[in-house]
Amino acid sequence: MRQPLVAGNWKMNGSLASVRELLAGLKEGIGDVKVAEVAVCPPAIYIPETQAQLAGTPISWGGQDLSVHESGAYTGEIAGPMLRDFDCKYVIIGHSERRTYHGETDELVAEKFSAARKSGLVPIFCIGETLEERESGITEEVVARQVDAVIEHCGVEMLGEGVIAYEPVWAIGTGKTASPEQAQEVHAFIRSRVAKSSSDVAEGLRILYGGSMKPDNAAELLAKPDIDGGLIGGASLKAADFLGICTAAND
Ligand code: PEP
Repeated sequence: MRQPLVAGNWKMNGSLASVRELLAGLKEGIGDVKVAEVAVCPPAIYIPETQAQLAGTPISWGGQDLSVHESGAYTGEIAGPMLRDFDCKYVIIGHSERRTYHGETDELVAEKFSAARKSGLVPIFCIGETLEERESGITEEVVARQVDAVIEHCGVEMLGEGVIAYEPVWAIGTGKTASPEQAQEVHAFIRSRVAKSSSDVAEGLRILYGGSMKPDNAAELLAKPDIDGGLIGGASLKAADFLGICTAAND
């Protein structure tokens, strides 16, 4: 049985004041998390505040990216051990915004996966096709290539120590959600692709859906057999909306 994970990606949003307010709202509303695991990934500079507020609650936290290096002359970068210093459990890697705006390739993302594991972080490994790729009928080819890059670089056992987030790029921040059937089809394909290397890893691997998930569409998506939780962008910035999704994952 895979334990659902609902993770919030706050992206580059907020201020110290709004982060404090959001964390207070989450702390107040989380109650007893019985089924779903819950995590938030704030901008790196707010991780210490997040740690201070969430330590001892059922909510974990993580980074939004990490360097492939452990330390050194890499201005602006944040290393895995630094995230671990602040008790981060997770780190998002390969988000489509980093692939698009920072030129991150499948190979670099695979290196980041292995750097995250080396530091003891659980990677939330994002994959997904663009609208153009979907319309050209190559969705499976694209996600297979993205998954294979990590299997080739890290091995399938290491892939199994992370979490995959399937995020169709056309659904991120657009308000367009993949239908539960569309999402399930790709999730099942991803699992079958991993199963080619190890059926045990495939069976235990959590595959989250991301792309305009909200409290009113979460239950339907999360009811699908291969959807094991969500990576939530916009809706994770409002405590009530994010908690609404966590509740849907608990049902
Ligand atoms: C994301 O960026 O990971 C995401 C899923 O964003 P949104 O929920 O806003 O579509």
